[in-house]
Amino acid sequence: MKAPLMRIPYTGPLPPPSIIPRNANTITGAIAALSRFLTAPPSPTLLARDGAAGDSQSTVILSGAGISVASGLADYRGTNGTYRQNRTYRPIYYHEFLANHEARKRYWARSFLGWTNLHKAKPNAAHYAIKTLGDMGIVRTVITQNVDSFHSAAHPDLPTLELHGYLRALTCVTCHNDLPREAFQESLARLNPAWASFLAEAVASGALDTENPDERRAKGMKTNPDGDVDLPGAPYSTFRYPACPHCLTNPPIAGDGTQTKVEIDQDGAWVPTNTAGILKPSVVMFGESIASKVKEAAEQAIDGSGRLLVLGTSLATYSAWRLARRAKESGMPVGILNLGGVRGEDAFFQNLPMSQQGEAGVRVELGTDKVLPGLVDQLKRTRPTHMNNEASDPSSGQHSNSKVFRDMLS
Ligand SMILES: [Zn+2]
Repeated sequence: MKAPLMRIPYTGPLPPPSIIPRNANTITGAIAALSRFLTAPPSPTLLARDGAAGDSQSTVILSGAGISVASGLADYRGTNGTYRQNRTYRPIYYHEFLANHEARKRYWARSFLGWTNLHKAKPNAAHYAIKTLGDMGIVRTVITQNVDSFHSAAHPDLPTLELHGYLRALTCVTCHNDLPREAFQESLARLNPAWASFLAEAVASGALDTENPDERRAKGMKTNPDGDVDLPGAPYSTFRYPACPHCLTNPPIAGDGTQTKVEIDQDGAWVPTNTAGILKPSVVMFGESIASKVKEAAEQAIDGSGRLLVLGTSLATYSAWRLARRAKESGMPVGILNLGGVRGEDAFFQNLPMSQQGEAGVRVELGTDKVLPGLVDQLKRTRPTHMNNEASDPSSGQHSNSKVFRDMLS
């Protein structure tokens, strides 16, 4: 079967959720329900399945853009989301990126300006709460659609599967070697000095702190009607980017046996006659398929767990939605914490026992950074101390993270 391609997610409105259980409409009620959800005994059906590698006591998390909003990153669908702020927003497709030097110039110019904000952004209270859930043995794996690497930064010891890749590196489409994004950013600054000084000014003015084109203009930044930056005297067509350094040193032989050509101009910029060595962000672009090993690892993470907790995503992308469906179909309880509706969410909560208070399913519409720290605090108070191995972790990261966490609670 052909791997499904990444498609632009459905962006229309979704119906508002029914909160489950009904008293989970406050932070206190949500914490109580999620606490029961995470500590309920697994269903006999799932226990019977556990012979293989399954662990019905453990939870797998599936996260999306909503969890990074408190870190200052844009959501796609929320009030400040990319789709609402910039209605003509249309991401580049993989095939355009590969085929078109001009499209790559435009992509890298925008990315050059956008990287600063992402690079200075940090994980928030929700990511650190997940770290503690991992330390407590409650969560065993995180699957994320986010490309910001916040999960692995906040909880390096709790495995994270990055379903849609990551922006912290680039990958060569020919030799598949990775290149750190930071080094690439330096190359872009060196090749595009006018853009580099423009970026420095835009950062200083605060114009890049918002995605809203009107707010950007108010802070002195010129933008086109489509929200693109308009740099006087330096249109996108002048933007320059480097070639893959590995392919440049050693131009590979193409699939048909011919020698590829990988060259740069006197300044180190890509030349359009090249036939290999295109660097792309290490994310799954629209129109590109998810690597089968990532897809399979995500399915195994679902199959090996006893419950699914969905955080900050409307499951609008098919790759995420089908993982949630897979969990539900195997009889796993599903909990969803998301602001706004979720694609086909009724199906996740069908036939719940009338009396259930969160053990069999939870639906909360509150921010992840508002609920998860308090949830962790509640679980620490109610779980037996031997389940909490946090104190035995000697790593210095543990202390700093715990401190961050305490600060969030105070
Ligand atoms: Zn290469």
